[in-house]
Amino acid sequence: MSTPQAALDTILARITAARKTAIAPAPFTTLIAVSKTHGEDHIRPLLEAGHRVFGENRVQEARAKWPALKADYPDIRLHLIGPLQSNKAREAVELFDTIHTLDRPKLADALKSEMDRANKNLDLFIQVNTGEESQKAGVAPAAAERFIATAREAFGASLKGLMCIPPADEEPSPHFAMLKKLAREHGLPWLSMGMSGDFETAIKFGATHVRVGSALFGARDYG
Ligand SMILES: *Cc1c(COP(=O)(O)O)cnc(C)c1O
Repeated sequence: MSTPQAALDTILARITAARKTAIAPAPFTTLIAVSKTHGEDHIRPLLEAGHRVFGENRVQEARAKWPALKADYPDIRLHLIGPLQSNKAREAVELFDTIHTLDRPKLADALKSEMDRANKNLDLFIQVNTGEESQKAGVAPAAAERFIATAREAFGASLKGLMCIPPADEEPSPHFAMLKKLAREHGLPWLSMGMSGDFETAIKFGATHVRVGSALFGARDYG
């Protein structure tokens, strides 16, 4: 494995190249460095290299890792990319700047009241279960229109876009295309799609946020 700095440079260069060859790239593509399972020793080198946007998939893990890092780097932006339980909404609002996994009315209610309470407006993505996989979170495509309307009423301009995780064993392009179409139909400007294995494809379909873990940090060890 190369140094973290070199890995970051490589991914940023690949993002730039993919945007150049895309027919209709988004106005910007933000790299979310997915640091789940990795400790400070892996994260600090990226901070020292100037990167500030990170993703975690669990509230508890984020709470253990990030307050100390944020004290040293106040301009860190943290994205929650994993499923959120309503009873963790308060903590999520405290810790994160953006949530990618809004997918049901009960969670929308909890986030709305915690955002109002903290007087903090997080940016929100609705997760769409484009592959209709029973084990996966996200609103079903057929129910997306209605839920987008509900969320827009609650959150207004804080509702920014849509997020998907295509089925692991399928060609991702049709899923990215579906998400893009849905977002366009509903006037949502942001698209969170693309991971280590497929972020260049996602950029072709207009990804504004790519979530890259293993290509940056190496393989995860779940112990
Ligand atoms: C872990 C994770 C990623 C990053 O996956 P890699 O394949 O390691 O890049 C992206 N999105 C979500 C939702 C994840 O949970």
